[in-house]
Amino acid sequence: MTVYLVGAGPGDPGLLTVRAAEVLARADVVIHDRLSVATLLDLAPAEAERISVGKTPRGPSTPQDEINALLVERGRAGQEVVRLKGGDPFVFARGAEEAAALAGAGVTFEVVPGITSAAAVPAYAGVPLTARGLTTTFTVVTGHEDIQGAGSTDWEAVARLGGTIVVLMGVAHRGDIADRLLAGGLAGDTPVAAVQWGTRPEQRSVRTTLAQLGRVEIASPAVIVIGATAGLDLAWYERLPLFGRSVVVTRPATRASELSRHLVRLGARAIEVPCIRIEEAADGGAALRSAAARVAEADWVIFTSPESVGRFLPLLRDPRALGGARVAAIGPGTADALAARAVVADLVPDRSVAESLLAVFPPAPTDRRGRVLLPRAAVAREVVPDGLRAAGWEVEVVEAYRTELAPPSTPAVLAEAASADAIAFTSSSAVTAFLEVAGPDALAPIVVCIGPVTAATARRLGITVAAEADVHTLDGLLDALVATLR
Ligand code: SAH
Repeated sequence: MTVYLVGAGPGDPGLLTVRAAEVLARADVVIHDRLSVATLLDLAPAEAERISVGKTPRGPSTPQDEINALLVERGRAGQEVVRLKGGDPFVFARGAEEAAALAGAGVTFEVVPGITSAAAVPAYAGVPLTARGLTTTFTVVTGHEDIQGAGSTDWEAVARLGGTIVVLMGVAHRGDIADRLLAGGLAGDTPVAAVQWGTRPEQRSVRTTLAQLGRVEIASPAVIVIGATAGLDLAWYERLPLFGRSVVVTRPATRASELSRHLVRLGARAIEVPCIRIEEAADGGAALRSAAARVAEADWVIFTSPESVGRFLPLLRDPRALGGARVAAIGPGTADALAARAVVADLVPDRSVAESLLAVFPPAPTDRRGRVLLPRAAVAREVVPDGLRAAGWEVEVVEAYRTELAPPSTPAVLAEAASADAIAFTSSSAVTAFLEVAGPDALAPIVVCIGPVTAATARRLGITVAAEADVHTLDGLLDALVATLR
């Protein structure tokens, strides 16, 4: 059993290392700082204990010796302990003290380096730490210490070294730091980039000069970069199509992360309001198991959601159990879920709606009974079974899962949702569930729907729909969001 001192990176969940994700996935306990990103904590098993040990500027926090004692105690108890720290655990993070306490107590520990904000935050602001012809060094300094005190950093020496100077925790003392660097010989017009909340959708960067640094408006946490490369303009993150925008995601709790992940890659902040929970069928899955055992007798199996694919296919020994049954998917997302389980859909309509499936579905055989199996949610539209029956098919509808309203979201989440720029709906059930759980006041001003059926449901409930995806997939929905919010 090991205590892992893990770097969580600077904020963007994509900047977590593979090793960090591995150790988080099997943690018994995660001991984290205030700044930790919630989605990273989600990587730990649901039953893992999560302990916040503070570290907000001037706010409540746990004294370092108590944190050390906690790590030793949990390590000795034989737990897999993840001590999750922002950036890199050995860069201004007191990881050295924690490692020394563990070593002293004879507790096995491992260090998982993280991407430090000293490198990542300038990168996300388009400021290289080195550039050929401009700098040959970069220096990372803390600005936290008493800047005028005896034994403090030799800022004049830092100034003489030149190159790129990266200051962490320097916001409060930025005026004094600038004065000392000027005293050390740096020019007043030396370029400066100050970047707050780097790598996060809230990122804000300010370009200034060393002479002006003390007067510029910037708040913690920020990385201040001083030197010639801060004068380059290679901004990219702040130019992403959805940068600075916030979008409410209403997918079921288990599937929320995929859309959120895409939004984050486009620079947006995703606010997850999971109002639907997916539950096992009312009969515990008995009917679904029975249908799976007889699947080879069907001519067709129709899947209308990735969820029903995920519930049905694992009940087969392997895809060969389908025998001669052909497979239809309502849309590309469902077809992808099938493909992930080595089943290629025989039929995917152009538009992901029940009516389109009916339009392209082959006629029923005339010389025998033609059988269709339809595993799907407990409550769903009757368009497909009614239409197929009218066309002569014998249709067996099997409850694969139920959707339940998620427990009421907290007032804070609802306020956040209401102040977002847009809300994305991916199903009719999400629209009704959102209105039920959150109410119309929590709707963001711009409503974007994945397709015509979802949009029709929204309109029927009195919601003004700003845009509908042309292609009824997550990508199509993202395109519609970009087109509307840009
Ligand atoms: N171990 C961390 C540093 C912790 S000290 C690392 O390697 O990144 C805390 C300081 O890091 C903050 O005061 C700020 O200067 C900087 N910092 C951390 N994350 C940041 C972010 N997302 N944006 C801007 N500055 C950040």
